[in-house]
Amino acid sequence: MNEQLTFLIALQKIDSAILSTRLRMDAIPAAIASHEGPLKNAESACENVRQNHAELGKKKRDKEMEIEDIKERISKLKQRTAGIKNNKEYQAHTKEIEKAEKELKRSEDELLSVMDSIEGASKALEIEQGRIAEEKAKIETIKKDLEKEVVKGTEEIKKLKGERKKLIEKINGDLYGEYMAVLKTSRGVAVVEAKDETCHGCDMHIPPQLFVEIKNSDEIIRCLQCRRILYYVAPEDAK
Ligand SMILES: [Zn+2]
Repeated sequence: MNEQLTFLIALQKIDSAILSTRLRMDAIPAAIASHEGPLKNAESACENVRQNHAELGKKKRDKEMEIEDIKERISKLKQRTAGIKNNKEYQAHTKEIEKAEKELKRSEDELLSVMDSIEGASKALEIEQGRIAEEKAKIETIKKDLEKEVVKGTEEIKKLKGERKKLIEKINGDLYGEYMAVLKTSRGVAVVEAKDETCHGCDMHIPPQLFVEIKNSDEIIRCLQCRRILYYVAPEDAK
């Protein structure tokens, strides 16, 4: 095999490794974002519970004020009792007190029920806050793992670039220029294997005569369709 071709094959291997490492690193922000969904759900659920809790708190204060008003009304009514002269007026007055006391009882029952609801809402709030903390901890772990991958990937690329620099010193300038041009227009793959009379870059069928040339000639041969540089690996070398 043409020595320059062996260098190009090695270069392609390095460039493919750089590309896949970069793609892996580029996918990291999306990977982090995809784990933020459960946290956002937990936060929004928590916000609903918090609002409900706040509304119940207001309801409780309103109920308490209402109870104070009723109590004051009853106390004033009772103060007037001594001044009542006739029986009919007295009966009406007693009824009014009874009515107010019933009202008081009802309001006090309502207050108790609101307080029960507040207790429930407090527990729910605690659960939701726990869920948020859990989701945040999960994301932190994931972030740390992914950050490690960024560091690893950066190191890998640095190492590959070092190897690349050494390698391209050995490659003929025109050939390297051609390689780079094809690389840009061919999704990062400029050197491909020709196998079973097919270009493994574009899947074009390679005419038998050309395939024989790829196998045997020392020339550098390009695919007629995609312009990628072709090489042949003998079955015994592939093992
Ligand atoms: Zn091709």
